[in-house]
Amino acid sequence: MTESTSPRELDDSCGCKAGRVATKYGLSGLDDDLVAYWTGTGEEQYSTRELATHVNQRVLEAALEDAGVAVRDGEVENTYRLLTDDDVTSGTRIQTRNELERDGVPIDDVESDFISHQTVYNHLTNCLDASLEEPDDEERLDRSEEKLGALQNRTAAVTEDTIAQLDRNDVIDINEFDVLVSVTVTCTECQQQYTVRDLLEERGCDCSREY
Ligand SMILES: [Zn+2]
Ligand SMILES: [Zn+2]
Repeated sequence: MTESTSPRELDDSCGCKAGRVATKYGLSGLDDDLVAYWTGTGEEQYSTRELATHVNQRVLEAALEDAGVAVRDGEVENTYRLLTDDDVTSGTRIQTRNELERDGVPIDDVESDFISHQTVYNHLTNCLDASLEEPDDEERLDRSEEKLGALQNRTAAVTEDTIAQLDRNDVIDINEFDVLVSVTVTCTECQQQYTVRDLLEERGCDCSREY
């Protein structure tokens, strides 16, 4: 074992955002928890989305404790929901942030330390070398959605560039324009059409659903 004196080497975090955040907030045992929860070696198995929420709630809890805020049972979860849930009005969100700020919680920093499910996934697979035997359905859907979304964005970008270039060279004439890429899937059994997103969300065509 070599002794290291440089501060950077003393920090044993993996260097990705998940590792940095865990070190910053002193989230001990987090990596073991993440691996156990993700692979399901513990009792329950969670998706990377759920794990990101778990990490972010621990971050919020640590920040509240650092600020000396007394935390009642369920309060961290509720505050996190008020900060992040799409169903919460912006007024409520602003009020929550103001209250936290008044309590001395650096909410801007805390929010920018929240991590995404993609960060959790990369941390698990790259930094912690964890892997799932079989990805669960939700994991597969998440990944497929991301892959197809990226493909559609790329198609839109290339289309936009191509049109703009033809326009610049006076091959075609157009002023302002928008490009919309949408992929349609048609069930040949019943001719029902779906956007890819809807099909993934509904997990199948109505006609082949078993009741
Ligand atoms: Zn990492
Ligand atoms: Zn059908």
